[in-house]
Amino acid sequence: MDGGTEPGLEGAEQEAMRDRYRRERERRLRPDGADQYVEAAGRFAHFADADPYADPAFDREPLHDDIDIAIIGGGFSGLLAAARLSERGVTSFRIIEAGADFGGTWYWNRYPGAQCDTDAYCYLPLLEELGYMPTEKYAYATEILDHSRRIGHHYDLYPKAILQTRVRSIDWDDERARWHIRTDRDDALTARFVVMALGSITRPKLPGIPGIDEFGGHAFHTSRWDYAYTGGDTNGGMTGLADKRVAIIGTGASAVQCTPRVAADAAHVYVFQRTPSSVDWRRNRPTDPGWWSSLQPGWQRERRENFNDQAAGRPVDVDLVDDGWTDIFRSISSPKGANRPRTKEERDLVVEASDLRKMNEIRARVDETVDDPAVAEALKPYYRVMCKRPTFNDEYLACFNRDNVTLVDVSESRGVERITERGVVANGHEYEVDCIIYATGFEISADFRRRLGMEINGRGGVSLFDHWADGLRTLHGLTTRGFPNWFYVGVSQNAFSVNMTSMFDDQAKHIAYLIDETIRRKAATIEPSEEGQADWVALINGFKVGGAGFLAACTPGYYNNEGSPQAGNAFFGAYTPGASAFNRLLEDWRAAGELEGMELVPHV
Ligand code: NDP
Repeated sequence: MDGGTEPGLEGAEQEAMRDRYRRERERRLRPDGADQYVEAAGRFAHFADADPYADPAFDREPLHDDIDIAIIGGGFSGLLAAARLSERGVTSFRIIEAGADFGGTWYWNRYPGAQCDTDAYCYLPLLEELGYMPTEKYAYATEILDHSRRIGHHYDLYPKAILQTRVRSIDWDDERARWHIRTDRDDALTARFVVMALGSITRPKLPGIPGIDEFGGHAFHTSRWDYAYTGGDTNGGMTGLADKRVAIIGTGASAVQCTPRVAADAAHVYVFQRTPSSVDWRRNRPTDPGWWSSLQPGWQRERRENFNDQAAGRPVDVDLVDDGWTDIFRSISSPKGANRPRTKEERDLVVEASDLRKMNEIRARVDETVDDPAVAEALKPYYRVMCKRPTFNDEYLACFNRDNVTLVDVSESRGVERITERGVVANGHEYEVDCIIYATGFEISADFRRRLGMEINGRGGVSLFDHWADGLRTLHGLTTRGFPNWFYVGVSQNAFSVNMTSMFDDQAKHIAYLIDETIRRKAATIEPSEEGQADWVALINGFKVGGAGFLAACTPGYYNNEGSPQAGNAFFGAYTPGASAFNRLLEDWRAAGELEGMELVPHV
């Protein structure tokens, strides 16, 4: 290896591809950046508020209870907070959930083909605790939703659930040391502790395409799939589409999973693509019961750590997960041992070359699968592996060989031009359709207030959004000063893992510890000290620099706030040594038993 290149890749090829990636990025940058999207609110509210899975007639009297712990959100993060509290014997909590059941992401996302994209043995939480064996390496939506319910039953959480209820605001009352919680059902609850378990990918967003509300046909967002219209269910069988022309707008992870299923059932599908996803192999397979029964206690934690270590570029003796993700992790980590590059510049070049090799593989896969060379060329992604969330699917690319599927490349106009009463306008042509499916993603990197969709006011009525206007200020990403007894599960100055449920579980364990300790030490409140928080923020800010440079050079998307990464972005400011290192840090912190950096205030 010389000059930072990999065998088979010359410096010139690397340079040419760097230039190509830059041009592709510039071609897609829009002056309106993140403002190109409209909130699914106001006249677009039906795209988010519609709950196709709930009883619309459901009604109940407003609640006025005083509760010990309010967990807001009944997806995996809320369920994990509840489970980890229960394991400590703390059971005086309620779970407030917008859906009509537990499940969160998997309650809402039932689109055909929906499937976890990290392996189910890592992704599905509490497998050892529940003794549940996933049926396949990558479980489909029904099995995952059932698993949420299984957790609910196992920990007896249903009697504690307040379903079909959205929290609108929470306000801290210093005199009573209580949070006042108001909801869309006129509840006026009080709670001593609040655990925010809202998930990170929840609120659907729409592109601000002119004419969206002029469309005369049927339209919905992937996360609110309308089976009453399409027929069938998450496994397919959508007979209602047999005579329908369908437009799918967007080609991210949701579209990659649902497009082949729609193509199998619809009369015709037009896929409007602005930026192609990288689509790697999936190779799903049934779980081998022999392997399953050979697993030893502690295996799930070990597997998750193994996965997270590889994501952080740490060498492991054996790749326990062995899938498309870990293949990618190998491709983008710097060589170790004797091949270790000597300088940062050398390391960057070596990693770039290996990233290029991986993306060449992804592009070659398109050529091998798609018959029409022009369509194949349009489906090839030209950016670095982790610029966008990689996808893994063995059906998506092949479905462009079908006669009833048309790929419409809208990259030149930086998106679909317009929606009319009859259909979708792109490249000056009107595509007449009966149905538009918006696979346009979620409020992930948007303004924090917009993402959360509720007001949060701490001590002295200070809004969390003002408190964090110049960047997050937390201790361990989970607590913030001025917001006593308030805990946040999410992507926030802690370690990020693409296997989000393992991240949520480790956070839930820590939050359960903090609440339990506050109760055991007979304190009224817990929050970070000024100094504890400042130290953590300084540590996190020290990590920022490298990641920001990488994201700034990426194709626009939610990873980089549509081309301009900035403080406040969900993916900005993480504990970059990785999830395993972060967990060890938290474990040591708990083992010390001193609650360092926290302040406990006794009851008056
Ligand atoms: P994404 O944000 O990833 O994709 C949105 C898509 O809409 C992009 O292709 C985007 O193009 C396109 N788009 C936006 N505006 C326009 C426009 N005006 N005209 C044409 N196209 C447009 O959303 P997804 O729902 O696909 O995925 C979101 C995230 O959710 C994933 O990244 C993943 O983290 C998670 N997810 C996980 C799954 C799993 O684990 N199984 C499955 C599905 C989602 P462009 O790229 O050019 O902006």
